[in-house]
Amino acid sequence: MIRLLLVEDEEPVREMLKFALADEDFEILEAADASEGFTALKNERPDLILLDWMLPGMSGIDFARRLRRDAASRGIPIILLTARAEENDKVQGLQNADDYITKPFSPRELKARIQAVLRRSTSSEDDGGVLQSDALCIDSAAHTVTAQGEMVAMGPTEFRLLHFFMSHPDRVYSREQLLDNVWGRNVYVEERTVDVHIRRLRKTLEPWGYDRCVQTVRAVGYRFAARMHS
Ligand code: CA
Repeated sequence: MIRLLLVEDEEPVREMLKFALADEDFEILEAADASEGFTALKNERPDLILLDWMLPGMSGIDFARRLRRDAASRGIPIILLTARAEENDKVQGLQNADDYITKPFSPRELKARIQAVLRRSTSSEDDGGVLQSDALCIDSAAHTVTAQGEMVAMGPTEFRLLHFFMSHPDRVYSREQLLDNVWGRNVYVEERTVDVHIRRLRKTLEPWGYDRCVQTVRAVGYRFAARMHS
């Protein structure tokens, strides 16, 4: 059973979504706006949030941003439902969500997105294991990194940064989000510190060409590209 919180102000859309997901093993909690969403989250911890972008009162984006700031809700994956098609808006939305889906969408597409996001979020919780991308491996238990079979020496911050990236491949993170996730929320570090460590990480990975996986996303932040040429 997957518990899903649906935050959407338009009742017909909620009904359509419930109908689309009826044959799946979902328990659907409903909220018509951000404040109902917060109330629902006080009582339940859903496995995933389907969040409408355009809500009355607090927008879906601001709601997502609030959830990301709170340790209790930060780990819950979010899929944004958006009617807007502008690329800039999507980038803005993706900083705080795991995926987005543009209305109108087919039930089949929605299910595929939900499954992909759930798969990603459960695999990223597996902190004890070995993460691999191409011939780059990070072993958090042994605290080692290897590239094409060779040991890669790096500082503790670069190690944590790389581990975070490899746990969350192909997602864009702002400097603020990287600070929260890699340095911790209660540490006061300036955002440009992130750039310094990104540079060091790239330099460390350069002999094997994996510096190209650590990509700058203009005006947003950084992303780890799991496939080197993507
Ligand atoms: Ca709406």
